Amino acid sequence: MSPRRAHGIHGKTIASRRGAPRPTLTALRQAAASCTGCDLYKNATQTVFGAGPATARLMLVGEQPGDAEDRAGLPFVGPAGRLLDRALVEAGIDRSLVYVTNAVKHFKWVQRGKRRLHAKPGSREIEACHPWLEAEIAALAPAVIVCLGATAAQALLGRAFRVTQHRGALIPSTLAPHVMATIHPSSLLREPDKARREAEFARIVAELRRIAALLL
Ligand code: SF4
Repeated sequence: MSPRRAHGIHGKTIASRRGAPRPTLTALRQAAASCTGCDLYKNATQTVFGAGPATARLMLVGEQPGDAEDRAGLPFVGPAGRLLDRALVEAGIDRSLVYVTNAVKHFKWVQRGKRRLHAKPGSREIEACHPWLEAEIAALAPAVIVCLGATAAQALLGRAFRVTQHRGALIPSTLAPHVMATIHPSSLLREPDKARREAEFARIVAELRRIAALLL
C-alpha cells in the first residue's frame, strides 16, 4: 500500500502527488499525530513517531512504543531503549545519528492492577500503520535498516519471514541497500537466565558491529 493511498485512508492531506516532492519526516510526524487509522489511538497518550536526524543512514525499526515511550512521546526511551543504547555504544554506533521508529506508532496495552502491560499488535493494526513506516523509509532513504523483532521484520519483509532463521543475515530487499533483522532488545529483559541474557546481548552487539562496518 503506497503512502499516498494510505494517507488518503487516514484522511491526511500531506499525500504527495505523482512528481511532487515527498513529504518530509517533520510533515509526516505532524500528520501522524492525529492519525485514527486503527483503534489504538483511543487508549494511548499520543502517537509515538520515529525520531532521529533526517540525514540518518541507519534506521532501526521496533514493534511498538511501550509505557515509557507512550508517556514521553519518543521511541526507545524505556528499559528496552536503554539496553539498545548500551548495545549501540558497544558496537561503536552513535545513537544521535540513528533514526529509530516502530512498526506501530501507538501503545497497545492491557491493564494489570495499576500497570499497563504491553499487548502485541494484531495484523490489522500493523497493516493500518504500515503506510507511516513506508513513508518514513521513503523520506529517510536509509543505507541500512535493522528490524528489531518479529513484528518489525514481518511488517517489512513479509509474514513468512522468521527472525529465528535469518537473524543477523543481510536480506536482499528493495527497502534499502542493506537490511538485517535481529531480536528486539525487550526479549532480553524477559530472559531470566543471566548467562543466556549476556550471550544474547553480545550477539546483538556483534550484529550491530557488522552494521557499523557497513556505515563506514
Ligand atoms: S497505530 Fe498507526 S494506524 Fe493506528 S492510529 Fe496509531 S498511527 Fe494510526
